[in-house]
Order: sequence, then structure tokens, then C-alpha cells
Amino acid sequence: MTVTIRNISVTCTRPGGFNLTIVRVNTSEPGLYGLGCGTFTYRHEAVAHVIEEYLNPLLIGRDVSRIEDIWQMMNVATYWRNGPVINNAIGAVDLALWDIKGKMAGMPVYDLLGGRSREAVPVYCYAESGDLDELVDQVKAWMARDVRHVRIQLSRDPVQAASHAPQGAQDGYYIDPQEYCRRVVRMFDYVRTRVGDQVELCHDVHERVAPSTALWLAKRVEPYSPLFLEDLLPPDQGMWYRHIRCQTSTPLAHGELFNNPMEWEELVKERLIDYMRAHVSHIGGLTPARKLAALCEQFGVRMAWHGSPDMSPIGYAVNLHLDMAVANFGIQEWPGVPEPMAEMFPGCPYIKGGYAYVSGKPGWGVEFDEKMAAEYPCNKEKTPWIEMRLPDGSMQKP
Ligand code: MG
Repeated sequence: MTVTIRNISVTCTRPGGFNLTIVRVNTSEPGLYGLGCGTFTYRHEAVAHVIEEYLNPLLIGRDVSRIEDIWQMMNVATYWRNGPVINNAIGAVDLALWDIKGKMAGMPVYDLLGGRSREAVPVYCYAESGDLDELVDQVKAWMARDVRHVRIQLSRDPVQAASHAPQGAQDGYYIDPQEYCRRVVRMFDYVRTRVGDQVELCHDVHERVAPSTALWLAKRVEPYSPLFLEDLLPPDQGMWYRHIRCQTSTPLAHGELFNNPMEWEELVKERLIDYMRAHVSHIGGLTPARKLAALCEQFGVRMAWHGSPDMSPIGYAVNLHLDMAVANFGIQEWPGVPEPMAEMFPGCPYIKGGYAYVSGKPGWGVEFDEKMAAEYPCNKEKTPWIEMRLPDGSMQKP
């Protein structure tokens, strides 16, 4: 008998520092449901609204087995396509349908994707401090736990006080891109000299510098053998990677702000980046993500899915199931799991010795305690670091 979608519900919750949007697709089969993560943390209620008011009525009664067709239909249902609100709404439902398919098959999703290519997933963890010795200690602490890849950031970095701003400049979070880049080079030199070469180091620029400054930075950190520099440029300036690529061997990772396949097509087929950093729910879920991974494999680009703290353990599991299966895996970002989050999502992935593991249960293998989620309400606090300004007081565009 055909199993159909009975209804879709959405829960927004904030067990850590970010608003999460969790979707549950209930089916006509008693006890069978799927979970998805559609977290767009800065507009969580907008995603919830699209799902509840538009996708739920559109999808009730549809055959849950027809994921591809449902995805294509959701994608064109607005005529105008893409964008983080629509994509996260579609992506959350898509992920829940894959969870259902795995549960119906009695398989973890990585088995639906072709099975394991590896037993666990190598991850990079975070070290961040305003003090270089403290940063070195954090990297060494990860190395002592057998973590072999660490992202190094200077805290309050890249922020500078608005000391050079003109009179009357707006309050805000200021960056001096040149000074920031000089500090990053000093950081790489200081840390690499003290931790040796038995650890891979990467750094996230968050699209905060001009193209020529990005090139300067990529060349200057080359002697310290970074694993990669991440998001040197905004998504609409990707063609500058041509110039950067032919002048430095520093590996380039890019793409957490991607929404639209047009943004990555040229970068992949021209082999202008080494690691693809797209965020699965922001591009519309597993259905487009597995196609993106296959495209990247064709051109020798490795996958490093965005895995920041502004996603749920369901989102972490989605990344890891893809990582377990694909041949062109590169590295996985691992932000850690704050305590209430692990409890709220039983079966949450975990790390041991530099590797992340999934539960191996059917579907994503992660559950969600909705009663507990109700105890952690969302808020709409402003996120100052996103609204960043340049020394003259004007907005910096990531
Ligand atoms: Mg990033």
C-alpha cells in the first residue's frame, strides 16, 4: 500500500546559541515519520512559515517514496526559485523524506547513497583565542585527543575598534581588512612554529577582504602549509579565484553562502577551488547535495560541507552520511555539541579521536525530543558580527 504524507509540523528551538528549525513529516503509516533540519538561524520563523502555510498543504497525500519528483515540484512551486528561506523549507522536507526512506528500507541513509566508503569521518575542530599562546594550547589540546585538523581563528578577529572611522560613523562591528590579514599571517607563523607539522591548520576568512587583499593573504600563508583558506571572497566574486589560483598553492575552500547552482557551476568545472563548502539545507537538501557531490567528483573538487554551530544534530548527521558515502570526501567541519543539544537529539553524532561517527540506525539515526525543545525558546537577538563595517564606516559585504 502506498505510504503518503499525513502532515508536516515545525518546531523552532534554541538549545545552544542559535535558533534551530526542525521539521517532522508524519505519514499514513502509524509510527513512521521523518525528521529534517531547515535551520536558517537568522530568519527561523520565515522558514517555519513557508513550511506550515505553503508546503504542508501542497504535500499532504503525496507518496513519500517519490522524493525526486516531490523535490522538483517544491522547487518550481514558487516559479521564482532559490534563496535561503525557500531552500531551507524545501531542504528540511527533503531531508525528512530521506529519513523516512531509510526507515522504510531499514538502512542508514549512507547505505541508500551506495554504502560506506569509510568507517568514520575525519573532522576539523575549532581553536579560537585573542591570545596566541592560548591558541597554541588549544591546538595542542586537540592534538592530544588525536584530532589532526584544527581551524585557527583570532577571537575579536577580524574586529577592530572604529578608531579610524570618520566623525559621526555608525556604531557597529568594524574590520580593517589589511590589519586583519597581517594578524592572520602572524597567527599562522606563531602557531605553526610551536605545534609542528603533525596537524593540519585551516582558517575561515568569512568573505571579509577585497580580492587583491585575499590574494596577498593566500600567498603569505603558503609557507605554513594550511589545509585551506575558507571563503576568501563573497559568493558573487568567485571569478577572482582564477587570479588567486594561478599565483599560490594555498588550497581554497568556498561556498557556505551558496544558494543557487549557478554560483558553483563555473568554480567547479574550471577547477578554481579545492573544497566545496555548501550548506546542505541552504541549497535545498540531500537531493541537490548528492548531485553537487557527484559534479565535484568529476572535476576533482573535494567535499567539506558547512557544519557550523547554527545547525542541528540532524544537520550534522546529514553531512556525515554524505561524507561516509562519497568517494570525493575532503574533511568535515565539527563545531561540537552543547550539552542540552545532545540530550534533545538522542542518537546525535559524536567524535572520538578526530573522527565523527553516526548511530548507524535507519534513516539519519537521530531522534528529537519535542517536549524538551519547548523548554528552549528561540529569540530574535541581533547578531552584530554579521553587520560589519569598514574603517570609513561603510558596510562590509560578505
Ligand atoms: Mg565558514
